Amino acid sequence: MDLVIVGSVAFDAIETPFGKTDKIVGGAGTYISYAASFFVEKAGLVSVVGDDFPDETISELESRGVDTAGLQIKKGEKSFFWKGKYHNDMNSRDTLVTELNVLADFNPVLPAAYRKARFLMLGNLAPAVQLQVIEQFDQRPELIAMDTMNFWMDSALDDLKKVISKVDIITINDEEARQLTGEYSLVKAAQKVLEMGPKYIVIKKGENGALLFDRNKQVFFAPALPLEEVFDPTGAGDSFAGGFMGQIASTRDTSFEGLKRAVIMGSATASFCVEKFGVERLQNITEEEFDERVSAFVNLTQFDITLAE
Ligand code: AMP
Repeated sequence: MDLVIVGSVAFDAIETPFGKTDKIVGGAGTYISYAASFFVEKAGLVSVVGDDFPDETISELESRGVDTAGLQIKKGEKSFFWKGKYHNDMNSRDTLVTELNVLADFNPVLPAAYRKARFLMLGNLAPAVQLQVIEQFDQRPELIAMDTMNFWMDSALDDLKKVISKVDIITINDEEARQLTGEYSLVKAAQKVLEMGPKYIVIKKGENGALLFDRNKQVFFAPALPLEEVFDPTGAGDSFAGGFMGQIASTRDTSFEGLKRAVIMGSATASFCVEKFGVERLQNITEEEFDERVSAFVNLTQFDITLAE
């Protein structure tokens, strides 16, 4: 098992300025799994759904090398449901509904094959569940990354701080970094979060790209690709996390340079996600398209300059 992924597997209803959906397949764990499956041969998904969740999605994930032995299916219960509405700028959204359903009393059980994995991506889920997963490893993974959101800052801050103290990397969006630290400056917010435990922080800024910081104040910035059409930003952060950790797990390169490349891979993966509703675009990326997009990132940020002596 190259990578263990934890995160909600869910139904979403989404409203953007361009359209709306009824219940479609979503969830942080789902987006992360699709994204990481481009990079790693074998990933294991830890989550829970009700028996209302489509078998086809589970089979499709399996066909991409995502093992679902860690995905519990609860008979007679309902999957997690989230409803969100994007503002006109598409960079901010309101959560309209969060129904925890099966997530409310989820006890994750790591299959034996997952317990020796070298890499762990704790996607957005209750911090108590994220903690339970870390504790079930036979030995601590070489690198643990986590994501979270404001919902858990509001409802489970103490547990969340415990998880943060145990991970190597945290990915978080700009508003959440500000909420967690009370700092407006993202540079100050990053340093404050790093004091809580992690060695690295990635602050995601939606269409304004992502910043990677370490404790020595090294910083790397990756823009988001200027896309002609951003249709639905849902899952962009999770696709970023899946591409980012997928790249790290497949190269096993945890140097700062390696993390920089992972930020680019994460950004490229996220740029596909936003082109269609739900996971649809992630299901249909070809290798050529992916390579083209990574080249576009290189071209976007490369320039020559000669400074006067
Ligand atoms: P993102 O757009 O990357 O922030 O993630 C969107 C996904 O997060 C959606 O597919 C939701 O199902 C999922 N989600 C929303 N709220 C929560 C929550 N409180 N816990 C876990 N997953 C959530």
